[in-house]
Amino acid sequence: MSNLSILSLTSEQFASLIQTSFQKGYTHALKYYKELLRTGQGLNAYDPLEPQAKSLLVAIDQKVELPSFKVIKTLISSETEKYVLEFSDKLIAELVVIPMKTGLTLCLSSQVGCKMACRFCETGRMGKIRDLKVEEILIQLFYAQNILKKKIKNIVFMGMGEPFDNFENVTKALTILLDPKGFNFPPSHITVSTSGIVPKILEFIPFGKQGVKLAVSINGSNNLNRTQLMPINRRYDMEVLKQTLRIYTEETGQKILAEYVMIEGINDSEACSLELALYLTEIPSIINLIAYNAQSNDPFKAPEKEVMFAFQKLLIEKGYPVYIRHNKGNAIMAACGQLGNLELKKSLLQKH
Ligand code: SF4
Repeated sequence: MSNLSILSLTSEQFASLIQTSFQKGYTHALKYYKELLRTGQGLNAYDPLEPQAKSLLVAIDQKVELPSFKVIKTLISSETEKYVLEFSDKLIAELVVIPMKTGLTLCLSSQVGCKMACRFCETGRMGKIRDLKVEEILIQLFYAQNILKKKIKNIVFMGMGEPFDNFENVTKALTILLDPKGFNFPPSHITVSTSGIVPKILEFIPFGKQGVKLAVSINGSNNLNRTQLMPINRRYDMEVLKQTLRIYTEETGQKILAEYVMIEGINDSEACSLELALYLTEIPSIINLIAYNAQSNDPFKAPEKEVMFAFQKLLIEKGYPVYIRHNKGNAIMAACGQLGNLELKKSLLQKH
């Protein structure tokens, strides 16, 4: 039996493989799995009242494999912590731990780079290098929770990559995250963010029905300004996206988180605010306004605070819950749209 990449398997898959291999051990494999995912130590599953199970658990332990990685950079500011993990092919994933009022939030990456090319996003400027495997997605949580010993309360798929462009691996990772016999993460504490890949939003309905939250990057109030920022709008325009989100919210009974990165002179006027309010009329939504994170040599700028407040006020008057998301992490390039930066580019240069 070859080694088992445990973070790519559900509890049932793992226990079945152990049962097939050892002709026994199904129940002990389940205990091992739960302990490993929740504490990082599968052998914690050993119960001294069952001495005969010890050798079996040790044998299971020897069969189990985690993705190999090293932490090549840690950036800690007063507000966020960013960790850069390098995998065996020298490519990296970045994870960010952000303290929020509700507890620690872990921002996960789903791809190395991203092909969606959103113009306000550092990752989008890199293009897509590759998808992360299921186990590479989950090792980010495993590392934060079991090695750094962080008490992670919420998970957001808002790091590098478009999660729905790596749909199969992301949804398998979600299945493992939600598995009551594994990480047992509450669905309402997980948010997956998409730029608006319409067919995948519909495929995601079963996860929405379980309570997993969906964030959608709206970022425009009409096709003109959205296309200017997000090339995906040419493929799935705002009307198609609206119809899809209507179906999604009806089927799941969930609100969406409408993400709106505000950029001076592009999408921040009062007219845009009213247009956005109209656009979202039939889509139950919570709106997050995010000030653009300006980078050096950047053609875009964040609006003044007063402009954002005026934009927010109009939406609130139309009855929407609207939050202005404080951009934590600017100092270490860990805020929205800033992942995938110099370290990755350097590592790619070294590789090629
Ligand atoms: S905002 Fe998200 S979808 Fe758009 S390029 Fe960046 S990582 Fe990709």
